[in-house]
Amino acid sequence: MKLPIYMDHHSTTPVDRRVLEAMMPYFTEVYGNAASIDHEYGYQGKQAVDKAREQIASVINCKSEEIIFTSGATESDNLAILGIAEQYANKGKHIITCVTEHKAVLDTCKHLERRGWMITYLPVDQQGLVSPDDVRKAITRETVLISIMAANNEIGVLAPIEEIGKIAHQHEVFFHTDATQAIGHIPIDVQAMSIDLLSMSGHKIYGPKGIGALYVRNHQPRVKLVEQMHGGGHERGMRSGTLNVPGIVGFGKALEIAKQEMKNENQRLKALRDRLWDGLKENYPKVMLNGHPTQRLSHNLNISLPGIESRSLLVLLKNEIAISMGSACSNATVEPSHVITALGFGDDRAYSSLRFGLGRSNTEEEIDYATQKIIAAINRLQRFL
Ligand SMILES: *Cc1c(COP(=O)(O)O)cnc(C)c1O
Repeated sequence: MKLPIYMDHHSTTPVDRRVLEAMMPYFTEVYGNAASIDHEYGYQGKQAVDKAREQIASVINCKSEEIIFTSGATESDNLAILGIAEQYANKGKHIITCVTEHKAVLDTCKHLERRGWMITYLPVDQQGLVSPDDVRKAITRETVLISIMAANNEIGVLAPIEEIGKIAHQHEVFFHTDATQAIGHIPIDVQAMSIDLLSMSGHKIYGPKGIGALYVRNHQPRVKLVEQMHGGGHERGMRSGTLNVPGIVGFGKALEIAKQEMKNENQRLKALRDRLWDGLKENYPKVMLNGHPTQRLSHNLNISLPGIESRSLLVLLKNEIAISMGSACSNATVEPSHVITALGFGDDRAYSSLRFGLGRSNTEEEIDYATQKIIAAINRLQRFL
C-alpha cells in the first residue's frame, strides 16, 4: 500500500498508463502542427486529432465537428458563458445558474454581473438538488442561457439535467452543463438531454492536465459563440491557438477507456464507497452524509463529522490519506465550502466536512486502512476537547 492513500480523485487523477502510451509518439516522432496539413507531419497530427474528436463525440453522442478543444474545463466554462453572452446580448441579458456550481461558472457569471447582466443563482435543497420547477420559473424573455452542472465536484450530486434541458428548449433558451465530473462516470447523451454546450476536462478522467473540450451544438438549434481567444481561426473560429496534439490524443484515449470500463468500475467504486461510509458510521454514529444518498456519483462520499474540525483532522491524517475539505480551488482561502453552506445547515457543517473521491487505484484494503486511521484521528481530537 502506497501512503498517503490517494482519495482525492475529484481534484485530479493520475494519467492512465495506456493513455500515456498513446500520447508518447506525439511529443517526439509525430510532432507536426495539426493545422499545417500541406505535409505529412501536419497531416498525421490532424489525423490523430480527428480520431480523438470522434472518440469524444461517441461518448456524448454528438458529431465530431461539434467538439472544440480548450485548455480545460475552466476555459470551456468561460467560453460557453462569455461566448453566448456576447453573441446573444441583443436578445437579453439574463443567465440562470445555481449556487453550487464550480467557481469557473460562478465567477464568470459574477464577471458578467459587473457588466450589467442579470444572473439568477438558484438555490438547492438540503440534499443538494436543484429543482427543475425553479429553473422554469426563473426564465424570463431576457434569458439567454441556463448553466447547471451535471455532477457536483464536492458532493457528487447529479442534477436532473434531462428535465432542465427539456425546459430550456421549450423556452428557446440555450442549455450549458459543466459535465467535468460526470463525463466518463455516468452516461451523457447531448441529444436525449437537450444539451447545447457541455464542458469537460482531461485530468479528471485519467487523462493529462491542460486539455479540455467544449461541445457546441451546431444544429437544432445552431449555437453561435463569440470567440474569447483570437488568432488563427482554429476550431471553427471559436478557439484559436495551435492544438495540443499529445494532450488531445490522451484526452480521447482516456474517455474511450472510461466509456469501456464505466459500468464495472462504477459498481466496484460504489461498493468501496459504501464500505467506507458503513465503517465510519459504525464507529462514529454522528457522521452525516452531505448530498443526496442515491442521486450521486458512485465514487463520491462527502461527510460532516459534528464536533470535529476537518482542518485539524486533515493535519493528523496527512501522511495516511490524501483527502480534502472540498474543492481544490477554494482550499487557499479559509472560507467554508460554498457547496456545503448552500445545503442550509450552517457553517459548522462546512467546517467539519470531508470529501472523498475514490478512483481506479483504490482497494478494499485501502478503504479499511483509511477508515481505521480516520476513526483513530477523530478519537485523538476528541480527547483534546
Ligand atoms: C475541475 C473542474 C473544473 C475545472 O477544470 P480544469 O480543467 O481544471 O480547468 C470545472 N468544473 C468542475 C465541475 C470541475 O470539477
